[in-house]
Amino acid sequence: GDGRELELRFMPYSDHELLVVARDVTQLRKLERMRKDFVANVSHELKTPLTVMSGYLELIEEPATVAPAVMRKAVVDMSKQTRRMQNMVDQLLLLSRMEAQIQDTYTKPVHLGAMLRQILDELRPLVEDKKLYLDAHIDDSVAVLGSEEKLRAACSNLITNAIKYTPVEGQITVRWGKIGPMAEFSVADTGAGIAPEHLPRLTERFYRVDKDRSSDTGGTGLGLSIVKHALEHHRAILQVDSRKGQGSRFWFRIPPELLVESVATKVS
Ligand code: ADP
Repeated sequence: GDGRELELRFMPYSDHELLVVARDVTQLRKLERMRKDFVANVSHELKTPLTVMSGYLELIEEPATVAPAVMRKAVVDMSKQTRRMQNMVDQLLLLSRMEAQIQDTYTKPVHLGAMLRQILDELRPLVEDKKLYLDAHIDDSVAVLGSEEKLRAACSNLITNAIKYTPVEGQITVRWGKIGPMAEFSVADTGAGIAPEHLPRLTERFYRVDKDRSSDTGGTGLGLSIVKHALEHHRAILQVDSRKGQGSRFWFRIPPELLVESVATKVS
């Protein structure tokens, strides 16, 4: 009827009566299906790089018969696949750690401004490598009550994506600051952009718009699912405006009850 799944149990009640207990297992079954899909996806995603690697290993088992150029390609490809698997395992561990932390409290102020400067510093080599123009407008007057690890994961994944999906000499703009009673983080890029039909699925685990190109960049399709998860914890929703070929802007707003005034932590 309405798509609900009920599990019925019959128990003796008296000599001539049965007690029927109906349990609504819709949610339970849904979770079971999601878990099975997830395991199938992880297995599939790990299988691809492993197949590539074992193919190469078989080839170079007799090194004398392998041309140097082929050997070089084999090694380069194998390290690329190894890096991908490492990324994937790191991200899966982060996801499961975050899922286990649902009881996190909201008492510790996280100084997002300082955190963003640190993230941008760490990413500077990538930015310079691609000759990107990086513009940052960061307001230090507001802090977020929440999880440092999750906020870092959210912001650093979004900024890393902007860098990854923007061609050389593009522009990236990072903003953090108050908007009325809320606070908004955003990162805009002049990169590849995303066609509208992909937007609703971006935060699905392992979802990638361009599977081939993205495995080239070591992409796993897990980044935005981590962002979504990290933001949910702060009652925020990941939003995106994007135009194919023109660029994207990913942003989220932290609600007023999770904001506190930030006492200056900067030593200038
Ligand atoms: P990945 O590891 O592939 O980057 P994500 O979950 O972080 O996985 O992102 C999912 C997909 O969304 C990416 O494969 C990419 O196609 C698209 N995407 C994410 N961020 C951007 C961006 N800033 N510009 C263009 N495409 C993006």
